[in-house]
Amino acid sequence: MFKGLYKDLYDHYGDLGWWPSENDDETIIGCMLTQNTSWKNVEKSIKNLKENNIKTLSDIVKLDENNLKNLIKSSGFYNVKGKYLMNVSKSIIGKYGNVNNMKNKNVDEILKFIINLNGIGNETMESIMLYALDYHIFVVDSYTLRFLKRYLNMDLKRSELRKITEDEFEDNYELKNLHGMIVEISKDYCRKKPLCNKCFLNKKCVYYSINR
Ligand code: SF4
Repeated sequence: MFKGLYKDLYDHYGDLGWWPSENDDETIIGCMLTQNTSWKNVEKSIKNLKENNIKTLSDIVKLDENNLKNLIKSSGFYNVKGKYLMNVSKSIIGKYGNVNNMKNKNVDEILKFIINLNGIGNETMESIMLYALDYHIFVVDSYTLRFLKRYLNMDLKRSELRKITEDEFEDNYELKNLHGMIVEISKDYCRKKPLCNKCFLNKKCVYYSINR
């Protein structure tokens, strides 16, 4: 169902190398901070953290929470995000010791652990599972739902989309790149007000064929 779409997106965007980070801890930090803000703002926060030698969740738990909030100010909602990031870091370090120890475990155990952490919804959980921990989980965010609803003219539920993509793509790399490419086309063309006339997928898009 999505193989053809993957190829068309790949021909345009290629390998995006998602998620852009130096290590898995940084990926988790990025997943937490990117909620309701642009990636540019998250990058500023991560740069700030690095300049203060905060590169891992272990570094975060040693910080004073108010210091953490100051360092991530550029990400917005910094009081709440700082509190959640501190709690998530303490929970992960407390239970697993480090992020690496969360890999290659029973997927349901890790999934349940992450979704029960304060401040983590489905999208953040899926991003952490796929990009930081390399589990076979597709990320269904609001971009994905909007883009696929238009492109396929189908109202697929998150669970249905997860099942179809995770069955169809065996490789985690493809799940990562598919999500990355959908985010890119959603920013470039399939925006809130879509730029269909310029979109490279318009000949295959059901929304375009109905609405042009
Ligand atoms: S043609 Fe329009 S609706 Fe379809 S994917 Fe492109 S921008 Fe979105």
